[in-house]
Amino acid sequence: MTTKNLQDLLQEGVEGRHVLVRSDFNVPLNDAGEITDAGRINASLPTIQALVEGGARVILMAHLGRPKGEVNPKFSLAPVAEALSEALDQYVALAGDVVGEDAHERANGLNDGDVLLLENVRFDPRETSKDEAERGEFADQLVALTAENGAFVSDGFGVVHRAQASVYDVAQRLPHYAGKLVEKEIDVLKAVVEEPKRPYTVVLGGAKVSDKLGVIQALAEKADHVIIGGGMCYTFLASKGIDVQESLLQEEQIESCKKLLETYGDKIVLPVDLVAAEKFDAQADNKVVAIDAIPEGWMSLDVGPETVETFKKVLSESKTIFWNGPMGVFEFEAFSKGTRGLAEGIIESTSNGAFSVVGGGDSAAAVRSLGLDEAGFSHISTGGGASLEFLEGKDLPGVKVLES
Ligand code: ADP
Ligand code: MG
Repeated sequence: MTTKNLQDLLQEGVEGRHVLVRSDFNVPLNDAGEITDAGRINASLPTIQALVEGGARVILMAHLGRPKGEVNPKFSLAPVAEALSEALDQYVALAGDVVGEDAHERANGLNDGDVLLLENVRFDPRETSKDEAERGEFADQLVALTAENGAFVSDGFGVVHRAQASVYDVAQRLPHYAGKLVEKEIDVLKAVVEEPKRPYTVVLGGAKVSDKLGVIQALAEKADHVIIGGGMCYTFLASKGIDVQESLLQEEQIESCKKLLETYGDKIVLPVDLVAAEKFDAQADNKVVAIDAIPEGWMSLDVGPETVETFKKVLSESKTIFWNGPMGVFEFEAFSKGTRGLAEGIIESTSNGAFSVVGGGDSAAAVRSLGLDEAGFSHISTGGGASLEFLEGKDLPGVKVLES
């Protein structure tokens, strides 16, 4: 099984050819619609630049947020087109639609080395449809934007775990190649999956247990330690009979968490103290408490200092570390210390020779927004769900489809 890469495509020659590229530009925006973290855009540049230099007529496909199949200006890729124009130092036009008249006209009008960005592919409900025929019809329309001799480059690592039209179905219809980012991400993660140096520690945090419960099970099998913090840990604490008050809780998952603790109790590391807050607010009254002492009606928005020390100790003894999901609501300064402390622990362990990977949009954004040194980690992945599924050992449809 071989997968062709960008180098292969460049060798075949791209001059004058329309090349559809699936990128991941799903960046966080603030209330004013400005990009607050351009990490994913920056990670996409090498592939685009190489195609431009080769004289391709580049058509970029991407999504932003969850517009749920409807055109919604709030989720327009306009800020991305602007950021790309600046980063590439060349005008990147934004089509007014995805596969409509404007996209066609602009695609036809491309000169060698030009770059066009289509509007948010998720403005079209067929992009994420479960119906293969519907997705196929949309993919046909995307492919129709290329003249003969078109090609597809898959470079949106954050979406390769999804069988969506612009990721999967387009690849079935055009000669397909793995972009530089996808290739690099897979190489790094393969090293973690295939032969992790031990002890191998996985740190999981973030918002929802239900999304990640299957992952915990699979990773607990493979890893030596599973550290759990963030919004995920409260369902675990509740499963031990602790009253977590108003903290994030997924009641329907309590039983599953109990089972996980029964089976993998010696591997799973939970918080020992927390930062409780009166309400979900940056300025909320708050204090450090033991896990079973959250004041009535309060909620925990971060792990406490003793927890950070406990987690750091495990990290200091680890040789491979994978981290997904912030330890607390790091967006609020008062509740960012757990995430900062954990990240510092990983950086320290990395400087002592451990191999560390950070995966997840918010986790990577946290590293940058807290002013931590990105170079302190071995690799910062642009994909959260995708990297987790890869580590679980699952086949990723968007990667599989590139093999032939
Ligand atoms: P990633 O994008 O890295 O995969 P997630 O999307 O799963 O991470 O989760 C990130 C979000 O989790 C952040 O916005 C953070 O504020 C939130 N979060 C972390 N801890 C808590 C908590 N204790 N209560 C509520 N939200 C939390
Ligand atoms: Mg996220």
